[in-house]
Amino acid sequence: MPEPLETDYLVIGSGIAGLNFALLAAEHGRVVVITKKRPDDTNTNWAQGGVAAVLSKEDSFAQHIQDTLTAGDGLCDRAVVELCVDEGPAMVQRLLDIGVRLARDAAGNLDLGREGAHTYHRVVHWEDVTGREIQRALLAAVAKHSNITLLDQHIAVDLLSLAKYGGDPACFGAYVLDRASGEVQTICARATVLASGGTGKVYIYTSNPDVATGDGIAMAYRIGATCGDLEFVQFHPTVLYHPHAGSFLISEALRGEGGVLKLASGETFMEKYHPMGSLASRDIVARAIDNELKKSGADSVFLDMTALDPAFVRGRFPNIYERCLGLGIDITKQPIPVVPAAHYMCGGVKTDTNGASTIRGLYAIGECAFTGLHGANRLASNSLLEGMVMSTRAASAVREAPRHRPSQVTPWTHDHATDSNDAIVVALNWDEIRRFMWSYVGIVRSDKRIERALRRIAILRDEIREYYMDFKVTSDLVELRNLALVAHLIIESARRRKESRGLHFTLDYPDKLPEARHSEIQLTDGPRG
Ligand SMILES: Cc1cc2nc3c(=O)[nH]c(=O)nc-3n(C[C@H](O)[C@H](O)[C@H](O)COP(=O)(O)OP(=O)(O)OC[C@H]3O[C@@H](n4cnc5c(N)ncnc54)[C@H](O)[C@@H]3O)c2cc1C
Repeated sequence: MPEPLETDYLVIGSGIAGLNFALLAAEHGRVVVITKKRPDDTNTNWAQGGVAAVLSKEDSFAQHIQDTLTAGDGLCDRAVVELCVDEGPAMVQRLLDIGVRLARDAAGNLDLGREGAHTYHRVVHWEDVTGREIQRALLAAVAKHSNITLLDQHIAVDLLSLAKYGGDPACFGAYVLDRASGEVQTICARATVLASGGTGKVYIYTSNPDVATGDGIAMAYRIGATCGDLEFVQFHPTVLYHPHAGSFLISEALRGEGGVLKLASGETFMEKYHPMGSLASRDIVARAIDNELKKSGADSVFLDMTALDPAFVRGRFPNIYERCLGLGIDITKQPIPVVPAAHYMCGGVKTDTNGASTIRGLYAIGECAFTGLHGANRLASNSLLEGMVMSTRAASAVREAPRHRPSQVTPWTHDHATDSNDAIVVALNWDEIRRFMWSYVGIVRSDKRIERALRRIAILRDEIREYYMDFKVTSDLVELRNLALVAHLIIESARRRKESRGLHFTLDYPDKLPEARHSEIQLTDGPRG
């Protein structure tokens, strides 16, 4: 059996949080970053709008804090909000220092976009492909750092816990499947850092790329980490509706710049739902569209940019313009057909303000973490900011992390498992989960729908468990097992919340309870791991 690979810091994920952490931690230790597909297969790479930070004279930290708290609907942790907002300008400077290009106005100042539910223009961006630019620059910086080893096509299967060796729960690394060789390697580390991103693939309609299967949350839950606020799934109101579009986001920034939502008839409708009209927060807009679509039976609503100067639209949104044009939609002349889709997970692995989870040696940063910043609903463009702030703080905190490790580490065994001869089972289970999650635990929920989802997920998870024991581990199976567990955690968290707040809307409890409470879930009081 090969010896375990030893490192100081094992980072699971190569998006903004994982790579910024790696760059900073590499100044005081050896870092191994694993990523399950290509290094740029991340949600980060798809971010369009940008990073929120207070940078203009008319704006203020107090107003960014207030906008975040308002969106979070009573559930934000104020101290975390203040921390992230205060760090905004420094994080933008760090991005520039790493080599990220950001758009500037004619006077040479950073160009600030405005997005839904932000009072002022405060979103730094690079055209409408900000995430791609951030990903590019981070990967280039990582490639130059001799203390960082980046292993792509490596998927973490499970975290290593001292509890398995009779000790207190403490994480000391992970079992990692090399997708090319099919071998499972043991990687031991002083600190294991989940930077594994979101959970969008739990739903059939999502803006997220295929990697967003909630692996980090599932792995952390299985070794006993507390998770929280998983019922708060943000549905982006405007994903392009087109049979050949895949999942292509129509950024909030289009509404920020004057785009107006309309029905097929050309009528506007958002004023019926909120005084801010098309600029209301995402949950309100997504629910309004869901309601209009259910009422009319139409396939989509439309985002109309035709009143804006075509040259401005082409210059500000070149990527969206080109992509739509390629599908036969000239957005300067025609309204864009859009539908809502799962976009962002507000909850995750519970952490403190240094990214430390409730398990020693295990950290979580970026979208997989639940820090308390977003509360019941994320303010647009606060997530890249959070990824930067928390990865920076975690990189400092891990310096002090002691090594927990048994003297002998048990290697991965799959002695009795055979190669799977029934891959269709994985595909079918995957599809079924994503469909019923959309229908029963989507934008509008009810007790009955949640109970139905619970019955189905229990059956499917039994099947998946059996399959997992019998066959050799593959990346598809790892993802399915995690996706099913995360779906179960979302359903169970939704079942426990007997109110409507932020992104969680249920027909049976349409009002908010007087006291805002986070939901926490762990192995001792939640579903089986
Ligand atoms: C279309 C779109 C547009 C967005 N626009 C914005 C925006 O304008 N502003 C904003 O603030 N936010 C935006 N967001 C949200 C934001 O992009 C994400 O929240 C953020 O990028 C998450 O970064 P991360 O580092 O936490 O994770 P990610 O960037 O998603 O990276 C996760 C990494 O973990 C890896 N991984 C996962 N599981 C495993 C495993 N088991 N083993 C090994 N590797 C694993 C993945 O392969 C990937 O490399 C957008 C999201 C989408 C999808």
